[in-house]
Amino acid sequence: MIEINNVNKWYGDFQVLSECSISIAKGDVVVVCGPSGSGKSTLIKCVNGLEPFQQGEIVIDGTSVGDPKTNLPKLRSRVGMVFQHFELFPHLSITDNLTVAQIKVLGRSKQEAVKKGLAYLDRVGLSAHAHKYPAELSGGQQQRVAIARALSMDPVAMLFDEPTSALDPEMIQEVLDVMVGLAKEGMTMMVVTHEMGFARQVANRVVFMDEGRIVEDCATEAFFGSPRSERAQQFLSKIL
Ligand code: ADP
Ligand code: MG
Repeated sequence: MIEINNVNKWYGDFQVLSECSISIAKGDVVVVCGPSGSGKSTLIKCVNGLEPFQQGEIVIDGTSVGDPKTNLPKLRSRVGMVFQHFELFPHLSITDNLTVAQIKVLGRSKQEAVKKGLAYLDRVGLSAHAHKYPAELSGGQQQRVAIARALSMDPVAMLFDEPTSALDPEMIQEVLDVMVGLAKEGMTMMVVTHEMGFARQVANRVVFMDEGRIVEDCATEAFFGSPRSERAQQFLSKIL
């Protein structure tokens, strides 16, 4: 579903990604972790076409992200993205947040978009809040709306970039629970997170990045049991 092949990216003279390759099959849940500044956000933004890269190739469900002929807004709409900081539109109600892209990008009727959006809002346990505005919801609730909004686009895969790291501790679990549910239903997911409980529970694979390189890419149990690289061992000893 997501093929990342030998991607190299520079910001000016600084090489932020070096020969990154990851292959994510349909239904895989891949957790990406690593120290701050190792290039995790940059890589996930490249997958979604939010950041250009100079070398290599990323193919999502048969469509090449770097191909100038690719319709990026359309491709982006098929890959749900949830960021660290809630990116809901503050001036729109929750219902409008859930429907605006369905209507504008996918051309759905308002009625169809509302039906779909509210169904996903119910799934994340927030149907009572449809008429509210983002500022009236807690951080955890906003993040669940962001997930519902992404799902409303019928994505082929979901990308998460530290979706719980800006949340108060008591709200982290409610967001992780939604993500665990998605993973168990077979959604293809690439998740940047340091929530190792989540990784252990649902990830098939853990990718460890350091200084723009993929240092480890292995089965979850193998990663937690005995990471090969010293960097990953050090990293794990600090966060576990
Ligand atoms: P991570 O998500 O793993 O913390 P990032 O992908 O955010 O890492 O950043 C990787 C490196 O690229 C860092 O050294 C960061 O300072 C640098 N970087 C990120 N964005 C930019 C940018 N727009 N311009 C220049 N350097 C950047
Ligand atoms: Mg980051």
